[in-house]
Amino acid sequence: MKNICIINTGGTIGMKPTPDGLQPVKGFLAEQMALMPELKDPLMPAYEIVEYTPILDSANMSPENWLKIARDISERFEKFDAFVVLHGTDTMAYTSSALPFMLQNLSKPVILTGSQLPLGHVRSDARENLKTAMMLAANYDIPEVSLFFGEKLLRGCRATKISASMLDAFDSPNYLPLATAETQIEVFQNRIIKKTDAAKPLKVETIRPAELATFRLFPGMSVEVLKNVLKRPLKALILETYGVGNGPAINKKFLQAIELATRDNIVIVSCTQCRHGCVNQSSYAAGKVMEEAGVLSGHDITIEAAIAKLLYLFSVQTDVAKLRQDFDKNFVGEISECH
Ligand code: ASP
Repeated sequence: MKNICIINTGGTIGMKPTPDGLQPVKGFLAEQMALMPELKDPLMPAYEIVEYTPILDSANMSPENWLKIARDISERFEKFDAFVVLHGTDTMAYTSSALPFMLQNLSKPVILTGSQLPLGHVRSDARENLKTAMMLAANYDIPEVSLFFGEKLLRGCRATKISASMLDAFDSPNYLPLATAETQIEVFQNRIIKKTDAAKPLKVETIRPAELATFRLFPGMSVEVLKNVLKRPLKALILETYGVGNGPAINKKFLQAIELATRDNIVIVSCTQCRHGCVNQSSYAAGKVMEEAGVLSGHDITIEAAIAKLLYLFSVQTDVAKLRQDFDKNFVGEISECH
């Protein structure tokens, strides 16, 4: 029988309804799981729970928490066949984007999941998400960090939270699901990263916090405000551009602000505001001048993965010219060849 490790970091899934609203309560998840007869089915793996103290609302997560998850997986890597990480939905896509950069040479499944309603709620989505994540982790060869929610298993560094209320709360707009779990579970091996050489041991790469910001373009935005954002200690800015990477190119002050910042070694990355699609800065003059001003293409990366990738790159090197080249490479399946 397969043996999986369930790491309970927090989130709605394990929260207890109290007169003051939903609250994380120590031991409550294990109690609720013990009440689920389905978990005793022979199709289900054996499991052990590692519960964090404190159990967090994921809105409070930071790169230190990502590192703890990565290290906890690494310490238990030999003992378990797979890992299911229970996580609040609010920042789950950030964690699932960062972990692939941190868990190098990963050869076993690491699946994040959570729920919109707590496990104890009568209409909860938690039971299905938890059971299916456990089954996928135990029974299929999916050696990458992924996120299971609703009926889809998504690549972790492609996932994004798309709804605050729908039970189908996550999507991966630029990469097809790794698996679907409708009446049948279907795993698409051709979309899954190939297993790394098992002889290579898992290595945890530290991601440290760095001075990054995001800035969304909108008609009439103030260049003065942008100039204030583009000041040290800022190291990199994710510019949320229009369509395929366009911006107000006839606005000389805007272009000048961008040019000055890139000359000062502040890395500016263009990510599209559109849910789906890829940045192509040479499609329009309104994108080309931004490229000429030093803006890098984020291709079809999500904002969550762009943040994770920049934090990773700033953690592993200090040479900005090299970092700019590396940003263009695909490390863990976070971008497609779409240009
Ligand atoms: N605020 C909660 C969290 O992210 C929401 C959830 O779990 O759905 O921890």
